[in-house]
Amino acid sequence: MADCTHDEAHNATITVNFLKDTGQFFAEIRIECQCGQPFQFLGLPLGVDLNGAAISPDGLELRVAIAPLGSVPQPLDAQRLSQGHGNTQT
Ligand SMILES: [Zn+2]
Repeated sequence: MADCTHDEAHNATITVNFLKDTGQFFAEIRIECQCGQPFQFLGLPLGVDLNGAAISPDGLELRVAIAPLGSVPQPLDAQRLSQGHGNTQT
């Protein structure tokens, strides 16, 4: 699809990784246009940041730290608990 402007439909692939040695999780995210053209992630350091986000050397994979809800304190936890949304079951 040589005339694709890459602005309509996209596919995302997300892989969740668990590191047994540290007990931490990170997600790998790839996005491509419906025509197959991969998208690059911009503005992040290369590598893996288990407390933030980083990209693969080619920029095609976003690697972002994740954790199950409630396992890592977040600034809004107190507010969420006070509103009665502390139960993470869905
Ligand atoms: Zn496209």
